[in-house]
Amino acid sequence: MKPEGAVRGTFLKGRQMGLIVQKFGGSSLADPACLRRVAARVLETRRAGHDVVVVVSAMGDTTDALIELAHQVNSSPSDREMDMLMSTGEQVSVAVLSMALHVMGVEAVSLTGAQAGIRTDAAHRKAKILRVNPARIRRHLREGRIVIVAGFQGLTPLDDIATLGRGGSDTTAVALAAALRAERCQIFTDVEGVYSADPRVVPDARKLKEIAYDEMLELASLGARVLMSRSVEFAKKYGVRIEVLSSFVKAPGTLVKEEVADMEDIIVRGISADQDQVKLTIGHVPDRPGMAARIFRELAAANINIDMIVQNTSEQGITDISFTIHRDDQPRAREVLEKAARSLKVRHVNVDQDIAKVSVVGVGMRGHSGVAYRVFHALAENNINILMIATSEIKISVVVRKKLADKAMRVLHETFSLHKAPRRPAVKKGARNARKKS
Ligand code: ADP
Ligand code: ASP
Ligand code: MG
Repeated sequence: MKPEGAVRGTFLKGRQMGLIVQKFGGSSLADPACLRRVAARVLETRRAGHDVVVVVSAMGDTTDALIELAHQVNSSPSDREMDMLMSTGEQVSVAVLSMALHVMGVEAVSLTGAQAGIRTDAAHRKAKILRVNPARIRRHLREGRIVIVAGFQGLTPLDDIATLGRGGSDTTAVALAAALRAERCQIFTDVEGVYSADPRVVPDARKLKEIAYDEMLELASLGARVLMSRSVEFAKKYGVRIEVLSSFVKAPGTLVKEEVADMEDIIVRGISADQDQVKLTIGHVPDRPGMAARIFRELAAANINIDMIVQNTSEQGITDISFTIHRDDQPRAREVLEKAARSLKVRHVNVDQDIAKVSVVGVGMRGHSGVAYRVFHALAENNINILMIATSEIKISVVVRKKLADKAMRVLHETFSLHKAPRRPAVKKGARNARKKS
């Protein structure tokens, strides 16, 4: 996975004490009562002596509703117009939150992404933040205001509005925290932190006190939508400490931070599931050098991210290649492949929507063997068939049938006893220090 593209200049390591960036997600802003609660929370932070920059998402399910509206008018709307439309959700939130703060007698000012100095590349609907010019935010802070910034959006080199991909307000918040060198970036959401698995699927999932950037990055990119994965890449790169916590309940959350030696004592930190993938199979591919390169070159040119890839064994010079992509990319991928199929002499392209990817993640896997066996054995014992497998140093992913994904998560959660607080191996202080040095 590539770190956030051409980030330059304005993102510096080191922190400005006292400044906190707080991000509130859609569910924390669902209605006027929620807005007032958020305003009170922001005010509390301000009264504790902090400068506060707030980043907000669209209220409730506004973004979904806007997407649906677009599709009622045009079945394949242009990405530029979609961004123009979707960015309005966050603009409503900043204005009404600012108004809620004004009622409380607080000076607050709302800014769009563009007004906040956020510049992106030109990739509409999945734009990357290239730089932030925080001058205007700083001026408002100096003048004693709480600054409220619309998440999920920025301005392209052509001065068009671009959005950052679903969940993108997390990335806005971390990018601002980096650019402003904030002391901390707090992500307020509808659960109390990062859990060992989605608490809505695994009821005995445990809230984690802390998690390493790399673990969070894997969990997020493998489907745990509590943080957008790009926000974690950013945080890791610029040393931004993220705290994930509830906007409804006052309780300690989860700290996402650099890895420390004893994090490796825990083999599996968490489990996630990605229900948004589809599997494409290209059948009857001539088994010659260069075929895979040609197929994936076409897909790369269409800006389609490929996830897992499996090539079957060749029989009589013919093979199959299967791979997974995000379901939003499916129409474009099909188009590209069907066009390429003719020149590549490939016979057919099959799409399987009935899949989900379940992954176990932990930096401790680096130093422990047998994890893959335990995953496969547990799934087999529970009659869950594995369709694809992928591994990295710190994760094992399997593709299973969609309806079995939740069960697979619960089975694996149980297998690795993730509901229990981890027991550190009994290592004497001196011994642990000695290991750190080695
Ligand atoms: P927001 O609107 O605040 O951005 P999201 O819906 O994007 O909130 O993310 C929060 C949701 O992420 C939770 O409600 C939870 O169901 C889901 N989730 C998935 N995996 C995890 C996990 N490991 N820990 C916590 N929440 C998770
Ligand atoms: N409103 C956008 C979405 O629903 C961005 C966000 O919530 O972070 O994806
Ligand atoms: Mg989110």
